[in-house]
Amino acid sequence: MFRIDKKTCVVLDLDDTLYPEAAYVESGINHVSQLVISLYGQDLLAEMKLWREQGETDFLGRLVQHLRLEMSVKESLLWAYRLHMPCIKLSEDVRTTLCKLQEKSAALAILTDGRSISQRLKLKALGLAHLPAYISEEWAGRSKPDPLRFHQVMQDFLGCTFIYVADNPKKDFLAPNQLGWQTIGVRDAGQNIHTQCKVDPVCHPGLWIDRFSDLEDFIC
Ligand SMILES: [Mg+2]
Repeated sequence: MFRIDKKTCVVLDLDDTLYPEAAYVESGINHVSQLVISLYGQDLLAEMKLWREQGETDFLGRLVQHLRLEMSVKESLLWAYRLHMPCIKLSEDVRTTLCKLQEKSAALAILTDGRSISQRLKLKALGLAHLPAYISEEWAGRSKPDPLRFHQVMQDFLGCTFIYVADNPKKDFLAPNQLGWQTIGVRDAGQNIHTQCKVDPVCHPGLWIDRFSDLEDFIC
């Protein structure tokens, strides 16, 4: 049933599909830490990591408290985090599979939720800035499962069949399933930001794979 050939447009989610989003969070924390060292002379990297491990979701708020700064500074630190050039990279496996997909399919594209600049900085860091990217903030903030961008992809790659590869059953697969796309979920190896909890069957991907490189099995 699943096949990737010269008529297939392979559309890919970004976070926790092509690279682990936890690596982005770590990169952001390192960036904020460097900023705090250079401006306030305090190294709080270990503290920030500890707060996160303890389940603190507002670690920037905690940081601002620790530095005895006004809470408004937290907003600035949050933008520093969102706008930093992330230190993330593709694994060798993912890079190799993407090369094969690029060669054997009609087209590759990225469809991801998030802020335009943050997501484009991630794509640049991963060496994927050349791919067409459909980023929710650039589409009136219409996040998945909104079908708008999936419709647009179908218009942009007329005559293709479509596969969407992603990780989050809560929002990723409903729209492409309803549009007759093939959908493939990449199983969480244990460090995903969004857990793959049970959802309505209409939200399931057509197939789960254990790792991204398993896509190579479907290349014809
Ligand atoms: Mg994702």
